[in-house]
Amino acid sequence: MKLESKLPDVGVTIFTVMSGLAAQCGAINLSQGFPDFDVNPELIDRVRHYMTEGFNQYAPMQGVALLREKISRKVKNLYGTLYDPATEITVTSGATEGLFAAITAAVGVGDEVIVLEPAYDSYVPAIRLNKGIPVYVKLKYPDYHVDWNEVRDAITPKTRMIIINSPHNPTGMLFKEHDITALKEITRDTDILILSDEVYEHIVFDGRDHMSMARDPELARRSFVISSFGKTYHNTGWKIGYCLAPRALSVEFQRIHQYLTFSSNTPVQYAFSDIMDQPDLYLDLGAFYQKKRDTFLELMQNSRFKPLPCHGTYFQMMDYSQISTENDVEFAKRMTREKGVAAIPPSFFYHEFDDHKVLRFCFAKRDETLEQAAEVLCRI
Ligand code: PMP
Ligand code: GLN
Repeated sequence: MKLESKLPDVGVTIFTVMSGLAAQCGAINLSQGFPDFDVNPELIDRVRHYMTEGFNQYAPMQGVALLREKISRKVKNLYGTLYDPATEITVTSGATEGLFAAITAAVGVGDEVIVLEPAYDSYVPAIRLNKGIPVYVKLKYPDYHVDWNEVRDAITPKTRMIIINSPHNPTGMLFKEHDITALKEITRDTDILILSDEVYEHIVFDGRDHMSMARDPELARRSFVISSFGKTYHNTGWKIGYCLAPRALSVEFQRIHQYLTFSSNTPVQYAFSDIMDQPDLYLDLGAFYQKKRDTFLELMQNSRFKPLPCHGTYFQMMDYSQISTENDVEFAKRMTREKGVAAIPPSFFYHEFDDHKVLRFCFAKRDETLEQAAEVLCRI
């Protein structure tokens, strides 16, 4: 039997490849983005509680009502927009499902979607599976800011959606106020939708604010906002996220979501509902990761890797041009095999890469892990 591939040019994701190679070589894994420290024991207790108390059957398709109410309240408090928990919030099986459902709900044959590169790897396959056309605009190296004139020039009558991601994976770039102003001007009087990937919403540094689409009524009206509990509560393996969108968009989103997964893990949703009563846990996250970033940068001070600006997420881009002329994939793989530290080559976030000599390092790690990794990296 043979199956004609719908994604013939797509291999196994770079996260799987690099984590696999790290495991095979016994390398310190700063590649795939996940913490190596423990989940809050209280949260684990809550999951256990709900499992033992019999909360083990299907959750409602839209998500557990209590969790949707808590999300609504939190978003209203933080960003000002009120999303109706009954109709405008959907709990998803990770942000990945939310991104796929939003793209599938909105993008059809020949629709153009503006993708800012480097772009998280799940956007473009979803666009292509829906027979949409990705239209690429590059962020400007080395601080990866958006040139909004280029975005404006990329817009055509077929533009259906713009995908944005701030705080940005893999670069750590954060949108500023002027990005919001530009995005508003560009989309005003159009039917263009915004898919805003905000999974790192709480991981922002240096006194900066997260520019959620939910801060601005004009943008919120045309946006799917996607977030993930995995980043906020150090449990990427639990795969719970959510989508905020105005009613008309949420209706279409849920039409897709109900056939992708129908609903998501029930006891975990109840546990998150409980833990959301402690806002410090997410409000302190920026300071927690800023310290990790600073620890990592300090440990790397005497290395030949040179840091690029990073104002959010738990990723640090490092220039290795003083060390090697190899391309990023060759260098990342050799570093893993020969030196024992794994990182992500960012070329996988591009359809056309400019051969920058940079690697992405995940610093969501215990200080001992960062120390061990830096000790090796400083000798390269
Ligand atoms: N978007 C971005 C930018 C990410 O880095 C990730 C990380 N995993 C996701 C989406 C997917 O999130 P989840 O694990 O909740 O599916
Ligand atoms: N978001 C994580 C990263 O960027 C990985 C997620 C995945 O493995 N699909 O490293």
